[in-house]
Amino acid sequence: MRILIAGAGIGGLTAALSLHAAGFGDVRVLEAAREIREIGVGVNLPPHAVRELIELGLGPGLEQIGLPTAQLSYHDRQGQLIWAEPRGHDAGYLWPQYSVHRGRLQQLLLGAVQERLGAGAVLLGQRVGAVTQTDAQVRVSVAGADTPHQADLLIGADGIRSSVRRALYQESIALASNGWVMYRGAARFSPFLGGRSMVIVGDERQRIVVYPLDEHTLNWLMVRPASSSELEHAELGNWNQPVDPLGLARQLAEWRFDWLDIPALVAATEQAYEYPMTDIDPLPRWSFERVSLLGDAAHAMYPFGSNGASQAILDARVLAYELARHEEPVAGLRAYEAARREQVAQVQLANRRQAGDVMARVSAMARTGAHGQASAELQAVERDYKKMAGFDVTALNNRPSWNVTRFTTSMPADARPPDAAPTETQPRHARG
Ligand SMILES: Cc1cc2nc3c(=O)[nH]c(=O)nc-3n(C[C@H](O)[C@H](O)[C@H](O)COP(=O)(O)OP(=O)(O)OC[C@H]3O[C@@H](n4cnc5c(N)ncnc54)[C@H](O)[C@@H]3O)c2cc1C
Repeated sequence: MRILIAGAGIGGLTAALSLHAAGFGDVRVLEAAREIREIGVGVNLPPHAVRELIELGLGPGLEQIGLPTAQLSYHDRQGQLIWAEPRGHDAGYLWPQYSVHRGRLQQLLLGAVQERLGAGAVLLGQRVGAVTQTDAQVRVSVAGADTPHQADLLIGADGIRSSVRRALYQESIALASNGWVMYRGAARFSPFLGGRSMVIVGDERQRIVVYPLDEHTLNWLMVRPASSSELEHAELGNWNQPVDPLGLARQLAEWRFDWLDIPALVAATEQAYEYPMTDIDPLPRWSFERVSLLGDAAHAMYPFGSNGASQAILDARVLAYELARHEEPVAGLRAYEAARREQVAQVQLANRRQAGDVMARVSAMARTGAHGQASAELQAVERDYKKMAGFDVTALNNRPSWNVTRFTTSMPADARPPDAAPTETQPRHARG
């Protein structure tokens, strides 16, 4: 069975590795870019995503490129602590939480795909356009090519402005913004608060997230409401819009704390980017017979809660798991959607709430000095969020693995020997 994946981002490459690990030998990734460069800044991978990458055999690579996060803390505009909690191993998970450069993570995945599936498994310069399907096949047209690719299945992992999604819905699904803009960058800077902390500082008018990517580099991400002229010029879904970091540092001039000098960090950044906060409404459907969606193409979300890349990784693993368990691939795609779509929609909507009313409520409490009340509110929000997004510590530590082996026989199901059933392995990870 030939499976095509549109998009060699975090989701598409993890899907290729997951399908290969589940026993699908003929998987090709079509990527629009002519070259895969280390684009982007930091992404945070909580233990539910790290577990999946470790189960794909990427643990040693991740250890080299990622920095394990030990604590998350919230602070008001004056830098005063509202609430802190341990993260990763320090919170009792069997897997760490990593902060990692998006581009380096993409290169790690790409290297593994090329090594395991062959050097030709990722085809560059292949911008997917029209998609048509019959009962037996999918045809995928690529810009500039006369002959379409043919496959049994197509997975649209082509990001927030997905062409596959457009082909399935016969129209463009509107990108939505809450009127906020996000600025992000990374700079060489001294470690702070023990060197493994992620901090969220500020309120509903402006806030900044800072975490280390390695011993010498801090990643930062600032959000605030955009002016009407900024919104007019904004290109929704474009991750690569450069912006002057010095102007941003001036807006943060008062945010100098004895534990971190935020304006100095932002001013030290060589290249910063502007990104209007963009998501899509939860989709009513992901799978259309032989074609399905994955990652941002299926559920682009506000980058709150460290779950954009993580949910794409979970999609990839569940996709392979369900395809391997269903002999009929269309049924496998339907089962994948049933397992994921509604659950991820909850995360999309929770991220909107986190960006909006949760932030406003907690900040209002902190402004009146009710830090204890704000702390209790944050704790409750985080606890519910972890359950919804799949990283409640007890549930995650006890969930069976999605490692699976596909049926290799075309024998009818009732004629199969019992040991031909897909195998599920239990987690077998040690710390470290
Ligand atoms: C350039 C870039 C920079 C980013 N920077 C950050 C960041 O700094 N921090 C952060 O939190 N998130 C960032 N993200 C988003 C983050 O990677 C995703 O939210 C998350 O990893 C989900 O991944 P995905 O694979 O679904 O989508 P993406 O990571 O967006 O990957 C989609 C892939 O599909 C390719 N593609 C698009 N259209 C087509 C097409 N028609 N045919 C074939 N291929 C196509 C794209 O080139 C891309 O490689 C960035 C995304 C991109 C594309």
